[in-house]
Amino acid sequence: MKKIIILGGGIAGVEAAIFLRKYKFDVELISDRDYLYIYPISIWIPTKEKRFEDVIIPIEELAKAHGFKFTKGKVKKINKDSFHLEDETIRNDFDYLVIATGQIKKKHKGIEYTYSICSNPEETLRYSEKLDEIINKGKGILAFGFGGNPQAPESVRGGPVFELLFNVDYYLRKKGIRDNFELVFFAPMPRPGERLGEKALKMMDMMFKRLNIKSITGKKIEEFVLDGIIFEDGSKQNADLICFVPAGDGHPAVKEGDLPKTEAGFIKIDKYNQVEGTQNIYAIGDVASIEGPSWKAKQGHLAEVMARNVAFNIALKEGLEKGEPKSYVEHINIMCLMDMGNGGGLAYRDDKRAMLIPLPIIGHWMKKGWGIYYKLSKLGKIPRLPGM
Ligand SMILES: Cc1cc2nc3c(=O)[nH]c(=O)nc-3n(C[C@H](O)[C@H](O)[C@H](O)COP(=O)(O)OP(=O)(O)OC[C@H]3O[C@@H](n4cnc5c(N)ncnc54)[C@H](O)[C@@H]3O)c2cc1C
Repeated sequence: MKKIIILGGGIAGVEAAIFLRKYKFDVELISDRDYLYIYPISIWIPTKEKRFEDVIIPIEELAKAHGFKFTKGKVKKINKDSFHLEDETIRNDFDYLVIATGQIKKKHKGIEYTYSICSNPEETLRYSEKLDEIINKGKGILAFGFGGNPQAPESVRGGPVFELLFNVDYYLRKKGIRDNFELVFFAPMPRPGERLGEKALKMMDMMFKRLNIKSITGKKIEEFVLDGIIFEDGSKQNADLICFVPAGDGHPAVKEGDLPKTEAGFIKIDKYNQVEGTQNIYAIGDVASIEGPSWKAKQGHLAEVMARNVAFNIALKEGLEKGEPKSYVEHINIMCLMDMGNGGGLAYRDDKRAMLIPLPIIGHWMKKGWGIYYKLSKLGKIPRLPGM
């Protein structure tokens, strides 16, 4: 049986391992964390609705459930014919390589004064502790923002920042102390969240006014300092705690190696996720550069479609499937169940429409339900729903 190595045990890598195992390939997954971190439900760690243990799945458990091998290791460099691990091992013992190492965050001046909920899971825990500290002080200014990447706008991650902001607002209201805190949103683009469509923008604006959240948009960030944010026009927003999510940047192991990549360091693939100029290397999820309309975004559900397609496309090459190779391009849409603590809204965008369906109360429980479904179905404890 052909040997397939997957690099990265996140949403894309684990889905690829599960689906490649359905064809009985010999699958080894290599990742630097021994757990899958379910980012979409990690937004509730700071507001204590979820504990760290609730938002992870140990990869060994997944490996056991699906029969793949897990190796803990950090990839340093990925080339067309091999990859290098941190312990200096060079591996080329694969028939196919699937790269799913995700993206890293762009660096900003003074980033050490901020906390991101979209990077290493430990950082979300640090943010959570700091939030407790400030709540215990009884008052403060809490800032929430995200940055841009003109070289790869699809790698901007704003949704989780809005979700955290609304959840913290609700958390403080539940404690009856919201009036003691100033909540500030900031982003360098004039219309942050624009790619979700006009309706979503209007709703966000309405929510900010209703919840008394100050908004600073369209001002580039010069630097972060210990007690605030300095903007390019020299103005300063004071803050006791800054949650800042920089836009995504290409993975260092990709930048180090000789795979074809964009200026921003994302792997160039064709619509079947095959890396340009290679025969047996595929890239899936956030690590890959994607084609599509200007509003396109890198999301978990697209990462999963890519993973399932790659399993099918490799099986097709090996004569285990019939038909045409599967493309990710027609699956580009935005589907975002944005949580607001006590409800949510379903934002959907594709080529033809952009809509926002408000889901008071139920939206929150739908997202919670998805988290439980995700965990149980990945471990094979409940059947999977088609396409999910
Ligand atoms: C807070 C948050 C909320 C989100 N909410 C949603 C949502 O509601 N809906 C949605 O569709 N999408 C959401 N997303 C986006 C979604 O989580 C990502 O698109 C998805 O995780 C991408 O999957 P991936 O496997 O490509 O990358 P990741 O999930 O980031 O996985 C990458 C994996 O590679 C491993 N890795 C990294 N570097 C190395 C290395 N050098 N060596 C070995 N292993 C390595 C990491 O440990 C990790 O396991 C959210 C993202 C965040 C951050």
